[in-house]
Amino acid sequence: MKTTLLSLLGTVALALSALAHGDVQLGPNGGRILELSKNETMHGEVTLVNGVFHVALLDRDMKPVELKEQSLAVTGGDRSNPKKPKVEKQGNHFVFPALQGDEYPLAFQFKESPSAKVVIARMTYDATTCSACKKPEWVCACAAKENEKPSDKKK
Ligand SMILES: [Zn+2]
Repeated sequence: MKTTLLSLLGTVALALSALAHGDVQLGPNGGRILELSKNETMHGEVTLVNGVFHVALLDRDMKPVELKEQSLAVTGGDRSNPKKPKVEKQGNHFVFPALQGDEYPLAFQFKESPSAKVVIARMTYDATTCSACKKPEWVCACAAKENEKPSDKKK
């Protein structure tokens, strides 16, 4: 009895957290949250300012983390011809120029220190405005957005 109830509770909890998070999690500055650790202790918050992506590091409690020996490499754009924008450190952020186009995947390779294992996070940049919240899709946290997004088939 006990195990049945526990596993049932576990299923409900999983379903709830999936609902709460959706595909997109937003940070304290309205940016897109990336998981940069295996245990939720390091996050990146991605914002786009005047054609430049900023990646701020946040801890478990979404509080800013000082940029020291962490490193970040970015790959993105067309899968058949991926680009590697130059990532620099500016103040307490990583910055890199936005790529061409309104929709493309980005992969982030993050290292907490030179000897640390690489953690890879992915997101899709999508500049399409969400009809519900009026924000670009890549920072839209509306649930079930996949259903309302028209499939774009140009063939
Ligand atoms: Zn939305």
